[in-house]
Amino acid sequence: MSYAYDDQNIFAKILRGEIPCNKVLETEHALAFHDIQPQAPVHVLVIPKGPYVNADHFGEAASEVEQAGFCRALAKVAREVGIAESVGGGGYRVIANSGPEGRQEVAHYHVHIAGGEKLGRMLPKREG
Ligand code: AMP
Repeated sequence: MSYAYDDQNIFAKILRGEIPCNKVLETEHALAFHDIQPQAPVHVLVIPKGPYVNADHFGEAASEVEQAGFCRALAKVAREVGIAESVGGGGYRVIANSGPEGRQEVAHYHVHIAGGEKLGRMLPKREG
């Protein structure tokens, strides 16, 4: 297994404070900020602070503490922005694009949290 992390990716620059973000929350292991091109009324990205390229890399190489911290942060974001059912919201979708066929554009592992309206199908229905 090999994973090549490029520390010049845009989320690495956000983590280093070199470019700004519209922050939702920050914990020891994760940073959450609004997506710059929202695809839903609420569209937040959650990223681990460690240098992980994608879901595979994060799942393989991140420590249990980092993984648990990331999951906790993800759930907390959905509550803080009001879309989690536990706080009266209507629910939401969590998406992690990984690799070229997953159409991942930024090579720092991230999860999209989208909600704030009834979303369309997760994937377009296939023909036939
Ligand atoms: P993905 O295709 O899963 O890699 O998605 C990358 C996401 O990052 C897209 O939804 C972009 O709109 C978003 N994005 C790119 N640059 C920024 C930025 N500087 N601040 C916030 N979101 C960004």
